[in-house]
Amino acid sequence: MSSQEMNNMRIVLLGAPGSGKGTQAKKLMADKNIPQVSTGDMLREAVANGTRFGLQAKAVMDAGNLVPDEVVLGIISERLAQPDAEDGFILDGFPRTTQQALDLEDLLDEMGTPLDTAVLMDVDFDILLKRLTGRRTCSRTGKLLNVHFSSQEELDECSNAGGELIQREDDNEETIGNRLSVYRENTEPLIQFYRKKGKLLTIDAEGLIDEVYDRLTAALS
Ligand code: AMP
Repeated sequence: MSSQEMNNMRIVLLGAPGSGKGTQAKKLMADKNIPQVSTGDMLREAVANGTRFGLQAKAVMDAGNLVPDEVVLGIISERLAQPDAEDGFILDGFPRTTQQALDLEDLLDEMGTPLDTAVLMDVDFDILLKRLTGRRTCSRTGKLLNVHFSSQEELDECSNAGGELIQREDDNEETIGNRLSVYRENTEPLIQFYRKKGKLLTIDAEGLIDEVYDRLTAALS
């Protein structure tokens, strides 16, 4: 893909919880000026806003289960109709079931803008666990950190700024275990789904954030 084409890309980031989809999507968004569309972030926003729908979703999310397909489809169709998604988007955390992948296909067909690629972010199970259990967000700067992997300097930066390291509610060990089995059962079949369509790219998503990002952009080019 040329850099012009890269600005128009419509991609899905596939991968287990903790594979770095959100981190890489944010980098790609900043770099290529294409929006990251994260159903997890949108659902967390609904929860934080205390809407009736958010309150219903909260219990499901806290347990690490999936909210119903029709709910996420509604969120996604509204989001992809926004003008900033016209020239491309990075889907992060959607689709998560075969039904969602089929719904996405129909939606993009209707819009006349088919998906270009699904990128599978491949990470070893032990590393996923460390990434998820160690994941924190700085309450002041919003920066994503990890108590196992971030340098002491980065962690100190947060406390020096007067912030605290906040853990996501669903990043406790019990919920993490469930999220990983939900991934295996419901989302892993999508690897084959996109492979059969000739749309699957796989990248090694272990190592430093910038190294993974280089592999991602190389795979997309
Ligand atoms: P994430 O931030 O992508 O890990 O998503 C956090 C939680 O939001 C998940 O564990 C689900 O409960 C819910 N969620 C996010 N995306 C979806 C989706 N595509 N389908 C169903 N539930 C979702």
